[in-house]
Amino acid sequence: MVQTLPAPRGKLTENRPLNDLTWLRVGGPADYLFQPADIDDLQHFLRDLPAEVPVFPMGVGSNLIVRDGGLRAVVIRLGRGFNSVSVDGNTVTAGAAALDAHVARKAADAGVDLTFLRTIPGSIGGAVRMNAGCYGSYTADVLRKATIVTRQGEVLDLSPEDLNFRYRQSDLPDGAVLVSATFEGPAGDPEELHTRMAAQLQKRDETQPTKDRSAGSTFRNPAGFSSTGRADDVHDLKAWKVIDDAGMRGASRGGAQMSPKHSNFLINTGSATASDLEGLGEEVRKKVYETSGITLEWEIMRVGDPLKE
Ligand SMILES: Cc1cc2nc3c(=O)[nH]c(=O)nc-3n(C[C@H](O)[C@H](O)[C@H](O)COP(=O)(O)OP(=O)(O)OC[C@H]3O[C@@H](n4cnc5c(N)ncnc54)[C@H](O)[C@@H]3O)c2cc1C
Repeated sequence: MVQTLPAPRGKLTENRPLNDLTWLRVGGPADYLFQPADIDDLQHFLRDLPAEVPVFPMGVGSNLIVRDGGLRAVVIRLGRGFNSVSVDGNTVTAGAAALDAHVARKAADAGVDLTFLRTIPGSIGGAVRMNAGCYGSYTADVLRKATIVTRQGEVLDLSPEDLNFRYRQSDLPDGAVLVSATFEGPAGDPEELHTRMAAQLQKRDETQPTKDRSAGSTFRNPAGFSSTGRADDVHDLKAWKVIDDAGMRGASRGGAQMSPKHSNFLINTGSATASDLEGLGEEVRKKVYETSGITLEWEIMRVGDPLKE
């Protein structure tokens, strides 16, 4: 990218590899990585950044495969200036860089039930963008307001309606960066909430490869079986089951593997490239289609360019 970029107070790094910023530990460089000092710094940077320069906000990379050729964009990653958490009654306001687990614990301390966030390894920005959820609860159920900085540098409050939440998706204006979110959770007894979270963590460890490098569920459960939490949803057809039926549990390519412990988890066993991981995922989709006629949809986002030959 040949551009003169605004000089921020935060950290701007050219040609920054992204592998160490993603859970799967793969990915080539971003043209630039920008870590704003605070909201004011972010606003000024975006306002002064030439309109044609693409921006990609990232959280802690727990739902991302960044391809090996990297990202032709300014990647924006929020840090310390964006991770405060405060509780007022049943209302919890968290910076977009705050980790879901931390927010769940702070909320529980204050007797607010956001327990479903405890086992999701992302940040609040990623939770809102992805409508993260588990155990039948979703970000959409508890979100009251999200604050963004637009690509033009304006601060705007969005309502849940503006975000148009869907299964693992919400709408944000192009290039907008979520900076904080306000949730309202049901009241609960702090001790009971902490006990429930401990049980959920234990359940995860028993059923999922939580010690491996993964990005969580690789594919959505097949359409109509998406664990949306809605009353009309059904839960009897799971992605892991059709992957098992296609004989792909434990299948590998290079350093990538479909976890033997949970076949819908794509893992980096140590030396995987993004191309190994995405290639194996595509192979799984093909095999599943051949054996069951079902087209699996990726849940992991894949971004950036493949490595040039
Ligand atoms: C072991 C494991 C278990 C998981 N279990 C679950 C689960 O039970 N339920 C679930 O829903 N997910 C699960 N996930 C997936 C993942 O944790 C969630 O999707 C999470 O919400 C992603 O957050 P993140 O901060 O890592 O976002 P990233 O992966 O960095 O980014 C994901 C998307 O969010 C956008 N984004 C992130 N931050 C911002 C921001 N500040 N402003 C604008 N856009 C932003 C990015 O542009 C990208 O589009 C799991 C992942 C792992 C590794």
